[in-house]
Amino acid sequence: MSADLIDGKLIANHYREQLKETITELKRKDVVPGLAVILAGDNHASRTYVRMKRKACSELGIHSELYQFDESLPQQDLVNKIEELNDNAHIHGILVQLPLPHHINPIKIIETISPSKDVDGFHPVSIGNMVTNQDTFYSCTPLGIMKMLEYEKIELTGKHVVILGRSNIVGKPAGQLFLNRDATVTHCHSKTANLSDFTKQADILVSAVGKAGLIHAEDIKEGAVVIDVGMNRDEEGRLCGDVDFNEVKEIAGKITPVPGGVGPMTITMLLYNTVKSAQRSLIDRQKQ
Ligand code: NAP
Repeated sequence: MSADLIDGKLIANHYREQLKETITELKRKDVVPGLAVILAGDNHASRTYVRMKRKACSELGIHSELYQFDESLPQQDLVNKIEELNDNAHIHGILVQLPLPHHINPIKIIETISPSKDVDGFHPVSIGNMVTNQDTFYSCTPLGIMKMLEYEKIELTGKHVVILGRSNIVGKPAGQLFLNRDATVTHCHSKTANLSDFTKQADILVSAVGKAGLIHAEDIKEGAVVIDVGMNRDEEGRLCGDVDFNEVKEIAGKITPVPGGVGPMTITMLLYNTVKSAQRSLIDRQKQ
């Protein structure tokens, strides 16, 4: 058997087309969705991510502003800039690219962002709303996974979802979103004993670890849906996921590739959250 491919690029384009229509509608009502991106320090990967995010904004007609700071930036200056952006009516989303320089406390910075502009979904208010199953900004990678599965019409109710990884930005929120959708969720992490005993039980396996070659054919239940979040380099330096794609595609029912799987969905969900925030601001304005 050979698994069906879940094509992240195609699905991301589907959602981007929908967003374009919403943006056109918003612009007709004089609202241009605006995203402020803050980059502190000189991390090469961060610069690449920021460039990709801003390019995606410009392709959809979302206004984006970049605020770039030196590595030595005092924490208070960053706090002041975020507070200024919180009060800027043209900005609907504020994204602080992580990691921050070591002397800056990322929790303090994230808490400074207004929950109404928290398009990364990292603020404790957003997380609390997610846990209590209320509409909020959800972290972009987990939201992208949910939107992918929705597009593929994959039933979640009663399914056993096994998540590898418990980070605050991927593993934990992904588990919570599946739980909110009535799946039965198991989280595994670096201290999990006999990982394969769990992965083999998964109707849906989400691997968000960051280790090439972690998951092989013998770790998968026949027909399972396999979502590979990992972004690693193989021995030849090529981008790859956590899952041995060539082996696992012979066992799984559906599988995401790397690249071209979860990655394109993550950026699309940042755009989605920014547009959602702009829509909310319009509703608030109309109420006044
Ligand atoms: P992270 O913060 O490093 O978390 C990795 C998680 O994997 C931790 O919870 C860790 O457990 C767990 N882990 C480590 N070794 C394990 C093992 N042998 N078995 C089971 N679990 C194990 O990473 P992250 O930020 O969540 O990202 C995970 C991966 O996804 C990375 O490759 C990252 O580049 C990628 N990523 C991709 C996207 C995308 O858009 N495609 C977005 C974000 C991240 P402990 O908690 O016990 O340490």
